[in-house]
Amino acid sequence: MARILEHDALRLISDKGVAVTQWRVAASANEIAEAVASFGGRAVVKALIPSGGRGKAGLIRLVSNDAEIRAAADILGNRDLVFPVEQVLVSEALDIAQELFVSFCFDSKSRGAVLLYSAAGGVEIESIPEDQICRHPIDLRQGLDPADAAEIAGDPAIAEALVKLYELFAELEAETVEVNPLAVTTDGRVVAPTGVILTDDQAAFRHPELSEIADPLATNGYRPLTDIERAVAEINELPDHSEIRFNELDEGEIGFVFLGGGAGYYVFDRVLYFGGKPANTMDGTSSPHDEESMYRATSALLKKPGLKGLVAGSNYGNFRAIDARARGVVRALIDAKIDPATFPVVI
Ligand code: GDP
Ligand code: MN
Repeated sequence: MARILEHDALRLISDKGVAVTQWRVAASANEIAEAVASFGGRAVVKALIPSGGRGKAGLIRLVSNDAEIRAAADILGNRDLVFPVEQVLVSEALDIAQELFVSFCFDSKSRGAVLLYSAAGGVEIESIPEDQICRHPIDLRQGLDPADAAEIAGDPAIAEALVKLYELFAELEAETVEVNPLAVTTDGRVVAPTGVILTDDQAAFRHPELSEIADPLATNGYRPLTDIERAVAEINELPDHSEIRFNELDEGEIGFVFLGGGAGYYVFDRVLYFGGKPANTMDGTSSPHDEESMYRATSALLKKPGLKGLVAGSNYGNFRAIDARARGVVRALIDAKIDPATFPVVI
């Protein structure tokens, strides 16, 4: 899954024919001031990061005078939502009369797409009672019926935006297309001031147009990948390599190199039980390239500052040559010139 940043999401939404706010991307106080001036001196400045909740975190400011414009530059460099803010989106300020919540995503219950819609959208969407959110299952073979959209929206302009946003969701084979809020302006226009598009890794090969803007290795959905996590994620991108799930843990001391979740997490739990500090979690499926995968994953993990030892293993039950995996780990230890006298390794 990759999250397309807001400026690219707005462009895709706009290309589909849904009205969006005018925007510019800025990376310094001067660029912010210039962009605000280009929108007539009144604008919204938002952190351009792959995260929601910016409004509540104070990373969205409506600015209309010099002091506010200068203060909005403080958003740059902020890390309150974990992702460091390197750029902001400056957009024309809309006069919003109503905020609608629109989300197309997948629903495991109905095993298809679903439209979530509420006339009470905005930053409080999480606390809206269930019964104020319409859940409309969509058969992917039929698409969103314009008559259903009209009934749900109760307004032709909103219904038209819903149909177009669904088309975007279907064409991109996205996991999610969400616009919250879809704004109805005081002069009656339906405009998207924001947009979230999550791509589906499984469909990435059919969407070369997204590869430039959707980096599946940038985040795990909640925070940026660490350098070590990224190095391991890159193994997964190699043809026919195993799918390794790997998380680095802060201040961990004992590294784990495991394929096969059961055995790995059993040892992980025992280490925790005896007061050890695991440096990472790791499990994964087998591939014909386990030796190379284990070599690369171990090499990446050994770079972790503060690492004091390593546990490596494999379960015996999944019909793969565990000697090949062990060779990968050992080769990485030798290459990194690990001294077993000071750095215990259990294989
Ligand atoms: P999020 O908090 O990360 O979801 O960021 P959004 O882009 O959805 O913005 C959060 C809130 O800021 C919206 O729900 C609006 O209430 C407000 N907002 C964003 N853009 C505008 C705008 O152009 N005009 C006005 N009046 N409010 C806006
Ligand atoms: Mn929002």
